[in-house]
Amino acid sequence: MLARDRGLVADARKFGWFRLAFLTFTLGFIGWYAQAQLSIVTVVGAVRAALHTRDFGFLLYDPPSLVIWAFAIAALLVWGRGTFCGWLCPFGALQELAAWLTRPLKIRRRQVPPTLDRWLRKAKYLVLAGIVAASASPLADAFSEVEPFKTSITLYFVRSWPFVAYAVGLLVLNLFVYKAFCRYLCPLGAFLAIGGRLRMLDWIPRRAECGSPCQLCKVRCRYGAIDRAGKVDYVECFQCMDCVTIVRDPQQCAPQILASKRPKVRLATAGEAE
Ligand code: SF4
Ligand code: SF4
Repeated sequence: MLARDRGLVADARKFGWFRLAFLTFTLGFIGWYAQAQLSIVTVVGAVRAALHTRDFGFLLYDPPSLVIWAFAIAALLVWGRGTFCGWLCPFGALQELAAWLTRPLKIRRRQVPPTLDRWLRKAKYLVLAGIVAASASPLADAFSEVEPFKTSITLYFVRSWPFVAYAVGLLVLNLFVYKAFCRYLCPLGAFLAIGGRLRMLDWIPRRAECGSPCQLCKVRCRYGAIDRAGKVDYVECFQCMDCVTIVRDPQQCAPQILASKRPKVRLATAGEAE
């Protein structure tokens, strides 16, 4: 699907429905039905096995998660961490679906000031480091509760109230600060982001005009994953395809709109094979 992004986003309206259906599948089937929400708990288990038992057999007790792990790791190396985080994480899907409520509820999303945003993004690596450092002790299990996955996905929100309040609180926060948990706190996201640095492809199409003078994709990216120069930060990109939809759409992409009014201007396209 991502390898054929041009076809995927050719019709922005259809793509919107496709994404909604896919996220519903991710939450309903992968998460609530198949119970294949990946978690940092598996990473902690693997660290413990590497340090003590050298027995990784526990991974085989949960085949659906094993399949998703295998795909997520393979996709990391090709497209980056966003393939999992943007499409296959049930809690990520739950946040995105919940965020659709902002319009009917007339909630105005807040922009985190850039400097604070930069610092907060680093927090997830500290959370990850704390959990991994504690992996030899039972504390790691308590620290792993920073993930609301067990409450919201594994136990369907049927749990003691502090856990439920935490998970619901994150979903409410998400209405005001988009995917705040993913961007600032998630240790699994941090783990995948580190692995994603091995990514082979810079696959998101960009134009010579991206960044200078055009800032449209930067402004529209809800994850703040495009810098002022128009460059995509793949570590923070969730592959939502919003910018791909814009670049591929002559009705939305500002330089293409300008060029259509001045037919002699030749558009230079960088980073893609036409
Ligand atoms: S950052 Fe965490 S919660 Fe968000 S999509 Fe990625 S793994 Fe899921
Ligand atoms: S808008 Fe583009 S850069 Fe931003 S998260 Fe979506 S795909 Fe990634």
